[in-house]
Amino acid sequence: MIQLKKFSFNPLQVNLYLLYEDGGSAILIDPSAFDESEFSELEEFVSLHSLTISRIINTHGHFDHVFGAGRLRKAYGAEFMIHQADSGLIASAEFQAAAFGFRLPAAVPAPDFFLEDGSEVVSGNISLRVIHVPGHSPGCVAFHQPENGWLFTGDTLFAGSIGRTDLPGGITTRSSGASGRSFLFCPKKRRYCRAMARFQPSDGRKDPIHS
Ligand SMILES: [Zn+2]
Repeated sequence: MIQLKKFSFNPLQVNLYLLYEDGGSAILIDPSAFDESEFSELEEFVSLHSLTISRIINTHGHFDHVFGAGRLRKAYGAEFMIHQADSGLIASAEFQAAAFGFRLPAAVPAPDFFLEDGSEVVSGNISLRVIHVPGHSPGCVAFHQPENGWLFTGDTLFAGSIGRTDLPGGITTRSSGASGRSFLFCPKKRRYCRAMARFQPSDGRKDPIHS
C-alpha cells in the first residue's frame, strides 16, 4: 500500500512529501529541508521505514522548494527532476535565497532528468503523472497519483484561490489563472495536497483543497 508522509520544513514552512511503501522505494516531492534538525527528522523516518528514495521531484524551482535538493540528492543517490522551464530559477536559487536573507545548505544540483507534461515518474509500485501548470512559475507542475486520488499542486493552488503569480518567474495571464481554476473546479473527486503550508487557514477552518 502506498503511503504518504508530510513534513513542513524551513522558515517558510514548505511541505516536503514522501510517497512510499514500507521497506520499499520512495518518491520525495519538494526537498524543502533546510537545517540540521530537519535533515535528521527526515533521515530518522527514512531509516525507520527502511526506505530507498530513488526520485526527488520538484513542483517548481523557487528557492524555498529546493533548499535541501543538493544534500538530499547526495545523501540518497536519488535522481533530481524538475521541469526544464524552471532551469533558470534553480540556477538562480542561491540569489533568490540571499534576497530573503537565507543561504542554501548546498548548491542545487543540475537536474538528472526534466519533467514533461504527460510523462510519468515511477519508483517501484508508485507512479505519478506530471501535469504542466505554468503560472506561479514557467515550469510549475502538479503530480497526480490516481490510485489514491492525490494531486500535489505545489504553489499553484492555495485555499480557495489560485496560487501567487507575483514571485520570480511568475506569469499573470488569463491562461495561468485558468490552469489553477481548472484544478480548483475539477469535477472529479480528488484529494489535494498543497506544497505550501503557510497558506493554510490559521483559524482552524477546514481547508477545502487540502487532504
Ligand atoms: Zn513558489
